[in-house]
Amino acid sequence: MASRRIRQLGDPILRVRCEPVHDPKSPAVRLIADDLRDTLRVARKKYDLGRALAAPQIGAPVRVIFVEINKPKFRAVLVNPEITDVGAEDFLVWDDCFSFPNLLVRVNRAYRATLRYTDLKGKDVTMELEGPMAELLQHELDHLDGILALDRPSGLDPFAFRSEWEKLHKPADRYGPPRPREV
Ligand SMILES: [Zn+2]
Repeated sequence: MASRRIRQLGDPILRVRCEPVHDPKSPAVRLIADDLRDTLRVARKKYDLGRALAAPQIGAPVRVIFVEINKPKFRAVLVNPEITDVGAEDFLVWDDCFSFPNLLVRVNRAYRATLRYTDLKGKDVTMELEGPMAELLQHELDHLDGILALDRPSGLDPFAFRSEWEKLHKPADRYGPPRPREV
């Protein structure tokens, strides 16, 4: 069990464009994946949030993401993930991040996305994502390019401390309805 420190806003590694993985089956990738899993599980107990972590958040600037969700049940290590297509609708999301856990940012995300990645056995996988899963993977893939939710504020007054937001909103307010993309 190796839970690592989650890098916090201001750490330059969060701004690096991460390197592609050449061998998804290598022990080095397995180690990063295990550390992401252990770190996510420890952090989830501490903050009562979190569905995924990207490798740069534990100090490894490579294109690896670990996702673990209970509803619907889904757990995967994504190597070299890419979003290959998005649907015609967007939605607004109050986003958060383990790298700045006390701040929420309202961002605009595609409501549907097609995700392609390689798993730890070297197999290519394609998935259709919708709603919370779609926005989650857009958030995590941004991490691999050094982009944070803070870089994508949308609308008036897009930032809120978690404590203030929780006074005014219910958890269901996190997600707006899907709507046609504004161009
Ligand atoms: Zn994040």
